[in-house]
Amino acid sequence: MTAIDIEKFNPKNGDKYSPNFYKWLRRHYRPEFSVVRGGEFDHLYVGEDEGWCFTGKKLMHILCKIGDPISCILNLKTKPTPVADFWKDYEERGRCAIDPSHNMRFVGDENRYQQNGDARTCRWCGTRQNLVTKTHEYQVWENQP
Ligand SMILES: [Zn+2]
Repeated sequence: MTAIDIEKFNPKNGDKYSPNFYKWLRRHYRPEFSVVRGGEFDHLYVGEDEGWCFTGKKLMHILCKIGDPISCILNLKTKPTPVADFWKDYEERGRCAIDPSHNMRFVGDENRYQQNGDARTCRWCGTRQNLVTKTHEYQVWENQP
């Protein structure tokens, strides 16, 4: 287990790093911590895999500063899947490592994109996107005339 250098994730090093995640890591981080996917909705969690359970907190709750410092326990029935290289990915792309599809809103993301017409570029990770219009088809029951 290699300890990470939390100071790399200081928001002073770039808007891509979450101020709330940085504060939480400074207060609670231990070298045993990892990031996993798990639970009913396959969310990201950060904490410690203790073998028989995973003790930690939902990453989105840390980013939104919701609830207790350490609040979740995933038992073996929902054995979490480690996210390989999460810390390296977070160091490189910041919050885009959590939102690779670029559909979430974050604290302080007002300048995340440079938009040019129907195209935009993410200033945090360099991802380029085009604005596309999609139509959803669906079925519904209607009364007969
Ligand atoms: Zn990005």
